[in-house]
This record gives sequence, C-alpha cells and structure tokens, in this order.
Amino acid sequence: MKVAVVGTGYVGLVSGTCFAESGNQVTCVDIDASKVEKMKNGYVPIYEPGLEILFDRNTKQGRLHFTTDLAEGVKDAKIIFLALPTPPGADGSADLSFVLKVAKDLSEIITDYKVIVDKSTVPVGTAERVEAVLLEKLDHSLFDVVSNPEFLREGVAVEDFMKPDRVVVGTSSEKAKKVMTALYEPFVRQGNPIIFMDERSAEMTKYAANSYLATRISFMNEIANLCERLGADVDMVRKGIGSDSRIGKRFLFPGVGYGGSCFPKDVQALAKTSQEKEYDFKILKAVMHVNDLQKEILSTKIMKYFDGDLTGKTIGVWGLAFKPNTDDIREAPALTIISRLLNKGAKVKAYDPEAMENVKQVFGNKIEFSANEYDAIQGVDALAIVTEWNEFRTPDFDKMKQIMNQPTIFDGRNIYDVQVTRDLGFYYDSIGR
Ligand code: NAD
Repeated sequence: MKVAVVGTGYVGLVSGTCFAESGNQVTCVDIDASKVEKMKNGYVPIYEPGLEILFDRNTKQGRLHFTTDLAEGVKDAKIIFLALPTPPGADGSADLSFVLKVAKDLSEIITDYKVIVDKSTVPVGTAERVEAVLLEKLDHSLFDVVSNPEFLREGVAVEDFMKPDRVVVGTSSEKAKKVMTALYEPFVRQGNPIIFMDERSAEMTKYAANSYLATRISFMNEIANLCERLGADVDMVRKGIGSDSRIGKRFLFPGVGYGGSCFPKDVQALAKTSQEKEYDFKILKAVMHVNDLQKEILSTKIMKYFDGDLTGKTIGVWGLAFKPNTDDIREAPALTIISRLLNKGAKVKAYDPEAMENVKQVFGNKIEFSANEYDAIQGVDALAIVTEWNEFRTPDFDKMKQIMNQPTIFDGRNIYDVQVTRDLGFYYDSIGR
C-alpha cells in the first residue's frame, strides 16, 4: 500500500519506518528542511533503539522516502497519517493549529479518494473538525477521516509499534475500516485486537490511557512520600500490591515525577476539556499538582542535606532524558532539578548517554557536561540520579567513593539497595524507602 506520513518526529518516523518494514511504500513529509535533508542522507534524527536498522534497510530497499513537499508526498498515497505536534496552548488545551493547517493544505491538493488518519493525540471532536476543514474544498466522496491514536512508548517505540497491545481505530466508514485493517493486519498476527469504535471514543481512549497511567505514577509517588514518613519501604509495598492481578506490576515505580512530551500535556488537555464541559475532574487536578511537587523532591532533599545553602557545592547529575533510552527532554524532571540547584548557588556537572545535546540548548554553559558518568562525579559533593539508564545500575562504587568529594547519593529512581549502599559507606537517600 502507498502510505504518506505527515510529521516525522518520534511518532511519524517510527510509524513510517515500521509501515515500510511491512512492505508498504512510505513517504514521510516534514516542514523541517534540515531534518528531511539529514534523513535523505541516511541519518536518523532521533534516538530510538532499533530504529536505525529498520531505517537503513527500508531506505536502501527504496520503500522509505522523505520530502518537504506535501503535494509530492501524498500524491499517490491511499492513506495519509497526520503525526503532527499538538503542544499545549497558553490555556492548557491542545493546540490543533498544526493539524488543522495540514488538513487545509490537503483540501487544496487531494484529487482522488484518501483515508486521512489523525495519529496525533487530539481532543475529542477533532476528527469532525478535520473533516469540516476538508469539506470546505472537497466532496465527501474523496476522503474519510479516521482517528487512530498511537500508544507507543519512547525508548521502546519500534517494539511497541511492531507488536502493539492493541490498535484503536475510530471510524464510521466501512471503506476506511477495510484500508486500516489491511494496513495493520501484519502487526497483530499474534491475535492482539484491532478495536474499531467511533471517532470520539478513539480520541477519548488515548487521553484516558495517558491520564490513568499518570494517575498511577502520582498515586505511587504519594504512597512513597508517606512510606518515608511512616518507616515503610515503598519497594516492598510496590511488590506487595503489584502481584495482585487486579493491579498489575507495571507503572508502580515511584520517582521524581513524570515528564516527557505526552503525559504532562495530555493530562492538562483532558483537564481543560473537562473544564470546558463544566465537569470538575478532581483526580486530574490532583495528579498534576502531585507531579509538580514530586519534580522538586530530590532537589529539596539535597538542599536540606546541605542546610539550605548550596553555594560552593558541586552536584553531579546522572540522567537528563525524561526516561531511559531516549534523547527526549521535554518536561524532563532533570530540568526542574537542575534549575533549582543552580538557583541555590550549586555548580552542576551532568551526564546522559543521549540527551546532552538537547540539554545544552536549555542551559548552555550554565552547567558542565561530562564525557561519562565518572567524569560527572569527579570532585562533587553529592550525586543526584535522575534517569535510570541501565549503565548507572551497577557502577564501580569504590571508584565513586575515591573521586567524589563526599560519598553522598540522592537517588530519584531507587536503583540501589538501601542497606548495601549504606554499608559501602555512602550517605544514601532515595524515594519512599
Ligand atoms: P515531534 O515534535 O517529535 O514531531 C512532529 C514533527 O512534525 C516535527 O518533525 C515537525 O517538524 C513536524 N511538522 C510540524 N508541522 C508540520 C507541517 N505543517 N508539515 C509537516 N511536518 C510538520 O512530535 P511527536 O512526539 O512525534 O508527537 C506527534 C503527536 O503524536 C503528538 O500529538 C503527540 O502527543 C502524539 N504522541 C506522541 C508520542 C510520543 O511518545 N512522542 C506517543 C503517542 C502519541
């Protein structure tokens, strides 16, 4: 099948590459000319494990193409995915200008039947708005608009896309349903479902999923904070509740708050939608408030340890990305933590395997970037662990003690055993233990 993907970011590039991998002819369209140029030259512009191999294979075999020209990109496509940004607007609602602009551009280009798919995370009612824009110029026989929210996780995006738990497709058109089924069948051969529903329910499903996951995180963070005050160990509590099949093991890890390009903006957007409908969604407000506070917890622990004054102190930071295996730093807790440390007069030395270039755009030379995790703790008064990259899990503790000014660790991800680390001679504080 001929497929066009408009917007070649984390979602668009992964989707496009995986559709090509299953034999489709895919053209990815992006307005960022330098990004398109890089991709044409064989360079993958984001870090996502497993993507490069598929990208190389499919570009070399001529199934994956790139262009900045929307008309050229969609000319032969039967199906057009919109994987465009939907950032938070000033009032917290999702900004649909990217999606609606491309819909308008498409209305001036399309001459034969296309399935136009909203893959971006968009508020309930957006499929109807996209359809209305298209109808200003086009007859309804020339298109169907489908809502197909994406559930991939950055860091395991290729795996998630190739083997999705489920594919959600919102459409009332039988014709579009057939096209979507043909496209997705290779991805659900093990029997995971393609769940068809109406467009509004599909749009709501995505917000409900992300808001529920964010709720689990904020809930566990509050349980952890209470564990600290009660002398309980949140790790044990997590295992104790996670083995209950009604609850499940995943998404129960406390930490320094959720970040990334999705949870913060999607929870906020759903709260805004509720407000517009005069529904007071109290849980969502609490989830956001708890998360804002949780992002401050590690830096507050550090400040307390040094009696509120970090002048002359140097703090090493391990991990900057909002989670491991990505270079994405959007809404990353590390940004809040570093800003607060700098405000209190600390010097910061940071290391992340993939995200340092992105963080340089934010802090420039206000912090020092290190070549590896040990450089980042040379001569520091404390280490803050912010992202749980695998390489931080079993470090050389003896070496750490030798090179740190003080053997002091604030672990925002609970990656070490409390007693073992203290027995090694470290001051060690973590979350909820
Ligand atoms: P992104 O910012 O990484 O990528 C968006 C791309 O769209 C950029 O490359 C940008 O240059 C391009 N673009 C902007 N305007 C354009 C235009 N007019 N024509 C062509 N290209 C244009 O965004 P993302 O993280 O891939 O997210 C895209 C959507 O998918 C969002 O709605 C997001 O909420 C949703 N989503 C993201 C994830 C995730 O993990 N990142 C997961 C599920 C859903």
